[in-house]
Amino acid sequence: MKFNTECLHAGYRPANGEPRNIPIIQSTTFRYETSAEMGMLFDLEKEGYFYTRLQNPTSDAVAARICALEGGSAAMLLSSGQAASFFAVFNIASAGDHVVASSAIYGGTYNLFAVTMKRMGIDFTFVDPDCSEEELAAAFRPNTKALFGETIANPALTVLDIEKFAKAAHAHGVPLIVDNTFATPYLCRPFEWGADIVTHSTTKYLDGHAAAVGGAIVDSGNFDWEKYADKYPGLTTPDDSYHGITYTKKFGRGGAYITKAVAQLMRDFGSTPAPMNAFLLGLGIETLPLRMEKHCSNALAIAEHLERHPKITWVRYAGLPGDKYHTLAEKYLPKGACGVVSFGVKGGRAAAEKFMNGLEIASVATHVADAKTCVLHPASATHRQMNDEELAAAGVSPDLVRFSVGLEDVEDLIADIDRALERV
Ligand SMILES: *Cc1c(COP(=O)(O)O)cnc(C)c1O
Repeated sequence: MKFNTECLHAGYRPANGEPRNIPIIQSTTFRYETSAEMGMLFDLEKEGYFYTRLQNPTSDAVAARICALEGGSAAMLLSSGQAASFFAVFNIASAGDHVVASSAIYGGTYNLFAVTMKRMGIDFTFVDPDCSEEELAAAFRPNTKALFGETIANPALTVLDIEKFAKAAHAHGVPLIVDNTFATPYLCRPFEWGADIVTHSTTKYLDGHAAAVGGAIVDSGNFDWEKYADKYPGLTTPDDSYHGITYTKKFGRGGAYITKAVAQLMRDFGSTPAPMNAFLLGLGIETLPLRMEKHCSNALAIAEHLERHPKITWVRYAGLPGDKYHTLAEKYLPKGACGVVSFGVKGGRAAAEKFMNGLEIASVATHVADAKTCVLHPASATHRQMNDEELAAAGVSPDLVRFSVGLEDVEDLIADIDRALERV
């Protein structure tokens, strides 16, 4: 199936007389005839559902849909994008290990890595995503377990050179994990450029309607864990906490990573999505291609308008021919550069706030990438825990306004922007 068809049909095919939509299986547990059968499920000897904290049919259908869209071998849903970023890294790194990450990543991910996971004993080195191959190589250590980056960084809107990152990761025998939230598989499929694992905050475009917080992890099945068995004992040696299973032996290259994340991390951390939220996500994905096309064309029109506006000091949108990331966008995002535009208002921070207060259609919200236009000042909201130096490294200037262009008529949005700018 091609992409549009997969958005509607992948992951769930009803049998004769069954519900046309993915059913919401709102049940914590599943009934079995015998306790022996249940035992086989616990031993991963047999496939089946027994407790929704680990797996649920609604979530699995939607995970399979996202897996197909990314072109992966296995996938799982989680309760949030934060849980996805945490699981993706913690599944292969623990105390004493080290991870290299792009400095242009979502503020919440930065905090998770630099503060919380550091407290768990995992060291992170942050690199400028635009650094040279030599600088990137220099960030690796013998105990490095992964390289992490974001396709289109939130909110810096830098475009990741995925091939450069994949090459560096593989030269050092570690997988490249890419947060593909802003691009979605409609605009970019990181596996095609060498990424090994993809994460999502499905809260954004995949759901698309600001209805449910959620996350996803997809494995490409390409990374050869066995080749670096010493580095990844959690995947390549028996798991005592799971009846002595060796994930790579039992589930192969395509299934080991996700099975371990479900059997071990989901069991212990319980970051499970509600079946209802998984259903909403599946529904949102059905219209992903149509929505992304409109988000991109609206955003480009607004970026072009802002570029010409005398009260705007700078505009960042990789879809603009003059943008620093336009060449990378032409390569990795040929269908568009998503719906998020960032810019500075003449007069800095105070002017940015005044502008935002003057908007009538666009709402001030700690959200991004959904059907309705919203706007945020990251330096005083999502990134307020960062100092000026960290903000600069994350590509967030104090005057940056993040404008998430929705699906409204673009003429209405431009009129709203112009009205608000007149009041600044
Ligand atoms: C929002 C976001 C996250 C975190 O996702 P939640 O669903 O809010 O937990 C991670 N990465 C990116 C790029 C995001 O935009």
